[in-house]
Amino acid sequence: MKQYRLSTDELVEKIENSNLVGLSKGITLIESSLEKDRLQAEELLNRLLPKTGNSIRIGITGVPGVGKSTFIEAFGEYLINTHNKKVAVLAIDPSSQQTKGSILGDKTRMEKLAANPNAFIRPSASGKSLGGVANKTRESLLLCEAAGYDVTIIETVGVGQSETTVKNMTDFFLLLMLPGAGDELQGIKRGIVEMADLLAINKADGDNLTKANLAKSAYRNALHLLPPHKFGWTPTVTICSATENNGIDEIWSSINKYYKTMSNTNSIQRIREEQKGDWLDETLNNRLIENFLIHPEVKKQLPILKQKVIAGEVIPSTATQELIKIVLA
Ligand code: GDP
Repeated sequence: MKQYRLSTDELVEKIENSNLVGLSKGITLIESSLEKDRLQAEELLNRLLPKTGNSIRIGITGVPGVGKSTFIEAFGEYLINTHNKKVAVLAIDPSSQQTKGSILGDKTRMEKLAANPNAFIRPSASGKSLGGVANKTRESLLLCEAAGYDVTIIETVGVGQSETTVKNMTDFFLLLMLPGAGDELQGIKRGIVEMADLLAINKADGDNLTKANLAKSAYRNALHLLPPHKFGWTPTVTICSATENNGIDEIWSSINKYYKTMSNTNSIQRIREEQKGDWLDETLNNRLIENFLIHPEVKKQLPILKQKVIAGEVIPSTATQELIKIVLA
């Protein structure tokens, strides 16, 4: 089937009217690494920028198997059915960059939510660097906002690489944990616990309920020992069951309370300003590296210098300086 390329006008019109094909095509454009697509994506984002910023941006992380997709499905349906929200879910999967494999799984996840007309689910973009992929996700989120989604969720895997990235592009960071005594930190680094605005112990059902409550107390105590949150929010711990639909409303209340607290002190505005600053830093980093590496002389000299570094003849910093000199000459 012939794929028609939509003009920027058509894309703007479709996205502003919440058209799913338009939104998907817009995101595909953002994800493309072709120069002509990049230019159109830039135009599209500039046109839609005034329509962005109106969603509640939530980051969700947790180890594989903790129940992220089950939770997001339950949470998404709750928001749509109980609060009349439109929910967009994007993913950043650090595993898919290197191995092409995916910890977050493919499109078959969250099938029920995906079929809901008020939900939009997009799996992780692919790309060479996490930074590059993350920036595409950030820009895709803006398109979702322009399309009228009022809750945007960015999911990532709690394996220690992409959490900071997601934290930097969302307003509220939810860490899902497993119940279970003895394995309090269960492979989740302390730094990630420190980033969380809310810890939710999932699978608090059946035989796990007691364990989940014990874990809740343990984490509550542990959180007291952490430095206070940058914007004056005190992170809390709750329990939930994604399969039984328990505790989901408490989590939503907590998010609302957070927004209220943050809005009273203008902190949401500051968080958003930081997000935009990060957007620039990330774009600059990616673009500089891309442009640097396509310089013909750099392309020629880089493998030669790499050999010298490997052979122990020069140090990386000297090699880098040589390459920079080529570009600045
Ligand atoms: P993810 O890898 O973090 O996305 O985890 P999944 O959502 O794929 O869930 C992993 C497994 O845990 C699946 O078999 C789910 O059915 C199960 N699971 C998820 N949430 C719950 C829950 O609240 N209670 C119980 N008992 N099982 C759950």
